[in-house]
Amino acid sequence: MTGTLSVIGLGPGDPRYLTEAASDALQGADAVYGYRAYLDRVPIFQHQVHYPSDNREESLRAAAAIRHAVRGANVAIVSGGDPGVFAMAAAVCEAIDTGPEEWRTLDIEFVPGITAMLAVAARIGAPLGHDFCALSLSDNLKPWDLIERRLDAAAGAGFVIALYNPVSRARPWQFGRAVERLRRHLPPTTPLVFGRAVGRPDEKINITTLDAADTAPADMATLVIVGSRETRVVARPGRQALVYTPRAVAEVSA
Ligand code: SAH
Repeated sequence: MTGTLSVIGLGPGDPRYLTEAASDALQGADAVYGYRAYLDRVPIFQHQVHYPSDNREESLRAAAAIRHAVRGANVAIVSGGDPGVFAMAAAVCEAIDTGPEEWRTLDIEFVPGITAMLAVAARIGAPLGHDFCALSLSDNLKPWDLIERRLDAAAGAGFVIALYNPVSRARPWQFGRAVERLRRHLPPTTPLVFGRAVGRPDEKINITTLDAADTAPADMATLVIVGSRETRVVARPGRQALVYTPRAVAEVSA
């Protein structure tokens, strides 16, 4: 007997950004697994059991949810934003890739969610209007020198960069080092956007520049968008500025 596993994205925090598909999958679940802070956002439906766990326990959580589903239950596992972006979907695939053969017969669905970079971008205009990439600054799962090489390549090639996981208590210096690295490639006036807890009551948006980036507060709930040479800030009287990256690039930037 095997049940089903739904890997669900909750969006950035505003309940209106939870998709109908995600909501249906949550309601149909007998058990819901997830990081404690994400599970707190999900209502407990009748007969449902929630299994909260800590942030760093992704592999254990994935294996526990899969085992539970293989025993015949409809199990949901949740991530903030989109589950495929630095989150549980890859942890579930890794577990199935390396786990017992019978896990491969499990019925699995992945339900997308609005990822943080899209939620932050939508607050200020269109910073991702031209080519962009996303990078996690966490060196828990990859070495720091690889992160520096990717920053060099991305900034050097003219991509706008969405930086996930800029800072945590265990990683206090990485963001400062990343900013130093970006300064080798980009002018001091390059726009940066700090979007904190977007879609939640304590949301904060801060538009700054690369030369002032060290002084802008960033934490675990912050996503940073680093502009390219083309990214522009449009001041508006009495209103928040628009930040956008034009759709066209006239010539190859130096
Ligand atoms: N799966 C998530 C990302 C998980 S990594 C997603 O698709 O959004 C965690 C990082 O995501 C945080 O360190 C932060 O950089 C970013 N993040 C998640 N939710 C956010 C929010 N509401 N506002 C701003 N950044 C957020």
